[in-house]
Amino acid sequence: MPKYKAVIGLEMHCEVKSNSKVFSSARNSYNDTPNANIRPIDLAFPGTLPTLNLECIRKALLMSLILNCKVPEYMYFDRKNYYYPDLPKGYQITQMHDPVGVNGHITIDVDGYSKDVLIHDIHLEEDSASLDHYSTISLIDYNRAGVPLLELVTEPCLSSSKEAVAFLEYMRRVYQYADISEADTKKGQIRCDVNVSIMDEDSTELGTKVEIKNVNSFANVAAAIDYEIKRQSELKEAGRYDEVEQETRRFDEETGTTIRMRGKVDAIDYKYYVEPNIPKFKIESAWLEKIKKDIPVLPRERKKHHMDDLGLSEYDANIIIKEKDYADYFEKCVSLGMNPKVAANYLTVQIIAYLNKEGITLKDFYLIPEYLLEITTEVDKETISSKQAKEIFNKSLEEKKEPKNYLSENKQISNEGELEEIINKILENNQEQIEEYKNGKTNLFQYFVGQVMKETKGKANPNMVRDILNSKLN
Ligand code: ADP
Ligand code: MG
Repeated sequence: MPKYKAVIGLEMHCEVKSNSKVFSSARNSYNDTPNANIRPIDLAFPGTLPTLNLECIRKALLMSLILNCKVPEYMYFDRKNYYYPDLPKGYQITQMHDPVGVNGHITIDVDGYSKDVLIHDIHLEEDSASLDHYSTISLIDYNRAGVPLLELVTEPCLSSSKEAVAFLEYMRRVYQYADISEADTKKGQIRCDVNVSIMDEDSTELGTKVEIKNVNSFANVAAAIDYEIKRQSELKEAGRYDEVEQETRRFDEETGTTIRMRGKVDAIDYKYYVEPNIPKFKIESAWLEKIKKDIPVLPRERKKHHMDDLGLSEYDANIIIKEKDYADYFEKCVSLGMNPKVAANYLTVQIIAYLNKEGITLKDFYLIPEYLLEITTEVDKETISSKQAKEIFNKSLEEKKEPKNYLSENKQISNEGELEEIINKILENNQEQIEEYKNGKTNLFQYFVGQVMKETKGKANPNMVRDILNSKLN
């Protein structure tokens, strides 16, 4: 029974997909040789000046609009000054005074209820270089220095680790659906700072917040929040709430605990000021209107469509919107005329299991919706059984050959005349069994069915076989 109310605010960083970095022409690419993607400006060589990447601005504005934020009239940047080896310029170009979006909100689904999450702001900034620490040395890779980063800051409006993770998961999908980012947590493209405080159930005054920096997975976000709520609650319970300090902590994966890094008095003074090398410019309303048209149908709306119009269960719909690729594949199947439930079933059961097993995505999946349709149409026409359909599905995947190649060898015999001929022959050769059957050994019926199946190598339509046998024997 939690005695206190938890209050959580998130700062979610997400790397933006673009050809080049946000203020330089160096490549923005994840997997290249370390220190291959560097231009002099990335290392702050004297005399170099930043150039603004328009595509990054467009994506930042798009995300701001998706979050229902207020967009400023003019765009400009700020310098955040501090020293660290991963920050070659000695400052980060970010947005502090007039971010690309403020005062937004977005609705998410949390385990059976929906919640409107309030967005404090979203701003565009540059990423730092990445550091790799070894036992006696550290290596710096400047490929990441200057990669565009969107930082989304929520109001302190979330109340559990479950809500926090639901929000992060949903935003990850929104980034993908809008093609703003790959938002791949495994590639380190998403990093979060988590702010946690507790307060009395009936209180209206926020408690002291603790910030947990740079949590690198959603599972760790949940673990860090739960640990912090417990730690703060125990202190409060013991009458030692004054020991909860406004401080920065980090999450320690090994122990599942948070560890103090620095307190408020040690806080860095970033001495923000307007970045002088990037002129302020007006965000033209015509451009904004154009960007508005790029707002995609969001996962939540697509889920609603799948449930309300296509009859899917919430369970299936939830799986299908998990990845944009899944939703696209599913909707393509339906648009080709496939029964939505059949398509959903193939996708959520066989296809996703196959993708996970092979470690691939739908982009590299051989059985495109058009091929899957070749199989499901035959099931609809009852020319193959659903068991055979699964076999063809597997074979086609294994041998990378279109399903129609396997259809002829698997097609059921559903031609009445053909079946009758086979059955007549079998009955002729089994006079004795017919006698026994007629004398009451009725379970021999299954024997006759078995003979037909043997003769046709399992291809006879079993329902038709039963009907014909029935009319001949009874
Ligand atoms: P700071 O001045 O330390 O940067 P902000 O007020 O700007 O703090 O908020 C930073 C983050 O902390 C935001 O995500 C916000 O929602 C969250 N936050 C602020 N106050 C609290 C609180 N009392 N409890 C939990 N989170 C909070
Ligand atoms: Mg920040």
